[in-house]
Amino acid sequence: MKKEKAVVVFSGGQDSTTCLFWAMEQFSEVVAVTFDYNQRHQQEIDCAKAITGELGIQHHILDMSLLNQLAPNALTRDDIEVKDGENGDLPSTFVPGRNLLFMSFAGILARQIGARHIVTGVCETDFSGYPDCRDIFIKSLNVTLNLSMDDNFVIHTPLMWLNKAETWKLADDLGAFEFVREKTLTCYNGIVSDGCGECPACRLRKNGLDEYLKMKEGL
Ligand SMILES: [Zn+2]
Repeated sequence: MKKEKAVVVFSGGQDSTTCLFWAMEQFSEVVAVTFDYNQRHQQEIDCAKAITGELGIQHHILDMSLLNQLAPNALTRDDIEVKDGENGDLPSTFVPGRNLLFMSFAGILARQIGARHIVTGVCETDFSGYPDCRDIFIKSLNVTLNLSMDDNFVIHTPLMWLNKAETWKLADDLGAFEFVREKTLTCYNGIVSDGCGECPACRLRKNGLDEYLKMKEGL
């Protein structure tokens, strides 16, 4: 795969930044694509721009504001609270159809620029109940994309079966631990690096980081 080109679905967060480093090791050319759908924070877009700028990676930002028009949710609207799913409900951050749309647009972009590989940081291990983060969904979509464009895309999901601690380990193995820790944005309150420490995204990130650091000490 060393001589091939890949598109990385990129948000500027811990997971997709780790995927970006993974892709840079796997492929000769890497292009990042970020979807702008009126996320709570413009910081997310700015953060994605800063990272790709620093790494010298070509970056496409696609306007997906129509998603908010269709399905208002906690990530796109300030008046909806960010909550974990309770009693089997989906979390308030769930955006129906998001990965279906994003991956389809990534596929169209990949075709335009002659890339066969698409990389995404979706993960089934702690998927918080998002149905479109499941491996079965990605495999199904891979087939659908290939049929729809008569192409041979390969969707890569390097984080699919990793927990948060293992994702930190992957970043470390790629020599990107400090970069990912200091420059990425996971926090729902728009604070880079270790974030606000209070929101569900920060708690998840911190738990994984603590677990990884403990694991590392034990080695
Ligand atoms: Zn936070």
